[in-house]
Amino acid sequence: MQDLADLYQAVILDHNRRPRNFVAMESPDRVAVGDNPVCGDHYTVFLRLEGDRISEVSFQGAGCAISKASASVMTSLLKGKTAEEARKIYEKFHQMVTTGEVDPENLSDLSAFAGVYQFPARIKCATLSWHAALNAVADPEAGKVSTEE
Ligand code: ZN
Repeated sequence: MQDLADLYQAVILDHNRRPRNFVAMESPDRVAVGDNPVCGDHYTVFLRLEGDRISEVSFQGAGCAISKASASVMTSLLKGKTAEEARKIYEKFHQMVTTGEVDPENLSDLSAFAGVYQFPARIKCATLSWHAALNAVADPEAGKVSTEE
């Protein structure tokens, strides 16, 4: 097994230090909370929708570097995507963090998370904000998402 330090690639460190879209949105259409009590990650994801398209996405909260960097990368990728496109990106991301297989197409900064599969407890950290965001997109009544469910 790799050392945990190897997991923290430059992309992850950068997004953790300077998270993108790290702001509470005023009057969002959807809000979802992602909670991972095992690690102590807790985030709120804010979305604005135009029809089926995500026009704005931001997040707030605190947690480990993996969870924060993943949420930051997510917000930069999901803006402008339809619900279906967002779900496809997440499926590729989930596949990668559970198997370590990197899809050479369209993963961009997400490929930095490929090493997560070697640390099963960290998979929840990496996917937490994605669960919250996709739930919020799919469900007008979206509220709290917990990895403990
Ligand atoms: Zn975590």
